[in-house]
Amino acid sequence: MELIIDNLSKTYSNGVKALQNISLEIPTGMFGLLGPNGAGKSTLMRIIATLQDADNGSITLGDVDVLKQKNELRQVLGYLPQQFGLYPKISAEVLLNHFAVLKGITQKGERKDLVEALLHKTNLYDVRKQNLKGYSGGMKQRFGIAQALLNDPKLLIVDEPTAGLDPVERNRFYNVLSELGERTVVILSTHIVDDVKELCTHMAIINQGQVCLKGNPLQILENLKGRVYKKTIQKSELKAYKQNYKVISEKLFLGKPTIHILSNVNPGNGFLLINAELEDVYFSEIFNTRNVKSL
Ligand code: ADP
Repeated sequence: MELIIDNLSKTYSNGVKALQNISLEIPTGMFGLLGPNGAGKSTLMRIIATLQDADNGSITLGDVDVLKQKNELRQVLGYLPQQFGLYPKISAEVLLNHFAVLKGITQKGERKDLVEALLHKTNLYDVRKQNLKGYSGGMKQRFGIAQALLNDPKLLIVDEPTAGLDPVERNRFYNVLSELGERTVVILSTHIVDDVKELCTHMAIINQGQVCLKGNPLQILENLKGRVYKKTIQKSELKAYKQNYKVISEKLFLGKPTIHILSNVNPGNGFLLINAELEDVYFSEIFNTRNVKSL
C-alpha cells in the first residue's frame, strides 16, 4: 500500500498559494511531514482526509482515487485533526464505545474487546473510567489516536499531535505511535523536528506550499556531512556573522549565541565541524527557500 500524491495544488480564494505542485510517494510506516507554521501542512492533510478539495493534481491510496472516491477513502482513514472537541463529562471508555457504535461496530462483544484493546494500546486503560474533562493534553491526544484507530485504518493522519505537550507526554505519545507497526501508512505532520527524528523512516520538508526536500532522514543527514560548523559568539557579533556566513540556526548556550553555519570549505576562524542533526537539515532547507524566494 502506498499513498501517491501527484502535482497537487491549492490556492485559497484570498490568493494564498497554500500548495504548489506537491508530489510525494508515501509508503507504509511512519512518514514525517515537517514544515514551519503556514507551510501548508494542514491544507495538505485536510485534502488527503477528503475534508477539502484541491484545485489540481491527484492522490491515490492503493487503487482508491482519494479525490474522487471520498467514501471509499473514509472507510480506511483514521484522522486526528490539529484541534478536536471531546465531551467533557463522559469517560474515555464510554465515549470510545459510543464512537465505535457510530463507526458501525454493532456486535457488542466485538466492540467491548476492541475498545479495551485500544485503551491498552494508547496507555489509557487505567484511567478509562475518568471523565475526559480531567485528562491532560497528552491523554486527550492519546484518546484521539484511540478513536482514529477504531476502524483499523490503512491510512492514519495525525496533524501536529505533539504541539503543546510537555516532554514526558510527548514521549508517551511517541511510544503509542511507534507501536502502530508497518501495516499502515501513517503521516505525521509537525513543525517539531524531534517528532520526525524519533519516529519516521521517511520524511519531507515543505515550506511556502512547496516540497523542498524528501527522502530518508539518515540519507538526508549524510548529505550534510562535513558541511555544518558551529561557534559560540558574542551577542553583539551576531549581525556580522549573519552577513558573512550562511547561518542556519542560532541557539543560546549559557546565555551566549551558538550558531550553526553551512559551508563547503573549512571556514577557520574558530568554527568547529560538527555532526549534522536533523534540525540543521530543517533550518538549512528553510534558509534556502527563504533566500530563493527573496531573490
Ligand atoms: P500549516 O498547517 O503548515 O501551518 P496551513 O495549511 O494551515 O499551514 O496554511 C497554509 C497557508 O494557507 C497559510 O498562509 C495560511 O494562512 C493559509 N490558509 C490556511 N487556511 C486558509 C483559509 N481557509 N483561507 C485562506 N487562507 C488559508
